[in-house]
Amino acid sequence: MIYARFGADSDVYVFSDGESIYCYGGNHDKQGPYEVLAKNPARMAGHLVSHRAAGDKVPESAIERLSRETAEQAKGSISTK
Ligand SMILES: [Zn+2]
Repeated sequence: MIYARFGADSDVYVFSDGESIYCYGGNHDKQGPYEVLAKNPARMAGHLVSHRAAGDKVPESAIERLSRETAEQAKGSISTK
C-alpha cells in the first residue's frame, strides 16, 4: 500500500509492505528509510508531522490515512497479519 509518492505535493515516499511502513524523503531520511511496524501507524503519522516541521511537503491524505488506521486498530477492526 502506498500512502504518498514523490510529486508536486510530496517530498516523501511512504509505503507499507504489510509488515512495516517505510518513509523515504527529505533531509530527514538521508541515513536510510524511516521504518515502523505496520501496526504502529500513529508513529509514522508523527514522523510525517516532523517532516512538515522540517519544511518538507507531506500530502494531507497520507497523514489522514495513517490516523484513520490508528483509529481502526484501536477499535480492533483491522487484523495485524
Ligand atoms: Zn521520513
